[in-house]
Amino acid sequence: MIYNTFGIPATADHYIEVTDRQQLLDLIAQGTLSSAPFFVLGGGSNVVFTGHYHGTILHLENKGIHLLSTDSTSGTLLVEAAAGEQWDAFVQHSINNSWHGAENLAAIPGTVGAAPVQNVGAYGLEAKDIIHSVRAIHTATGQEKVFTNAECQFGYRSSIFKQSLQGQYIVWSVTFRLSSTFTPQVNYKALSDALSAAGLVHPTARQLADIVASLRWSKLPRPDETGSAGSFFKNPIVTPQHYEQLKTHHPDIVAYPVADGYKLAAGWLIEHAGWKGRTLGRCGVYEKQALVLVNLGGCSGSEVIALADAITADVKRLYGVTLEKEAIII
Ligand SMILES: Cc1cc2nc3c(=O)[nH]c(=O)nc-3n(C[C@H](O)[C@H](O)[C@H](O)COP(=O)(O)OP(=O)(O)OC[C@H]3O[C@@H](n4cnc5c(N)ncnc54)[C@H](O)[C@@H]3O)c2cc1C
Repeated sequence: MIYNTFGIPATADHYIEVTDRQQLLDLIAQGTLSSAPFFVLGGGSNVVFTGHYHGTILHLENKGIHLLSTDSTSGTLLVEAAAGEQWDAFVQHSINNSWHGAENLAAIPGTVGAAPVQNVGAYGLEAKDIIHSVRAIHTATGQEKVFTNAECQFGYRSSIFKQSLQGQYIVWSVTFRLSSTFTPQVNYKALSDALSAAGLVHPTARQLADIVASLRWSKLPRPDETGSAGSFFKNPIVTPQHYEQLKTHHPDIVAYPVADGYKLAAGWLIEHAGWKGRTLGRCGVYEKQALVLVNLGGCSGSEVIALADAITADVKRLYGVTLEKEAIII
């Protein structure tokens, strides 16, 4: 069985599926997580394995999605989902129960547990916008801590679980703040264009999620057809001065103003560096979206890294911009 969407075969000293809390606490008490390196694996949709993992892979498989509370005045709903649930199963379950707010994040691969770690985002929404709190277990003591939204220190595809607390907590469940009222969030241009093209002026929650999913798969490879880790690189942020320089030489460069400068579309940089559709070994740059590296069949982790390094070097040479990997290399 291959537990990563890139489809790269990999082995580890130990592989443990964790289905209940006591099992995890027993593993911690027995020293399983302190005696050797460990890695928490969700759906493997943002990781690249580069060889044998000398340690323990913990694969979370705990399940359950529950409505915790309803505020009948404000319509606010608190919904808790187990880390081992598939993210899209949570989104679809919410839509089916008229719990609203997650529609724009439909069809993102991976698990609920990884969503706060990565602060997943798409079509104008990020997980941080709907996360109320995160229940996590300390990997050394087994103690549980509930992190408020603010304590998670969410950033662009980042959180405290990937930064200062990396490796220290296992996300066990996530509580979302949803709503009994559906308010479509259609500020993202590609999404509003697609809704207009489909004649959906007032989409239902189901229609919005379906349009999001079809937009997604028109641009990204489906994991069951082509191996990838989604966007391989982050969109880099540059200073206003650097952006102005780039804009002078490349008037069509794609960028969005952010608090500390400009966020450049990494896909544009990679495409204009001539990499879109190109291949190196058995790994390639997806022909519909240059931000995505794909497995052309039998690709190894080191081939992925070789391609990523070649792209990074060209983008640095041409634009003076350092690309940072979004995918996690193990
Ligand atoms: C085709 C495709 C499209 C994608 N589109 C998007 C997109 O639109 N937006 C987006 O943001 N991402 C996207 N991604 C990336 C991916 O879906 C997300 O990063 C997702 O959150 C990864 O979930 P996972 O369960 O597979 O995590 P994994 O890849 O298994 O792990 C990712 C990281 O989270 C950690 N982790 C996982 N579970 C836990 C846990 N319970 N506790 C602590 N740490 C944990 C892992 O240790 C690792 O560091 C896409 C990926 C693919 C393949």
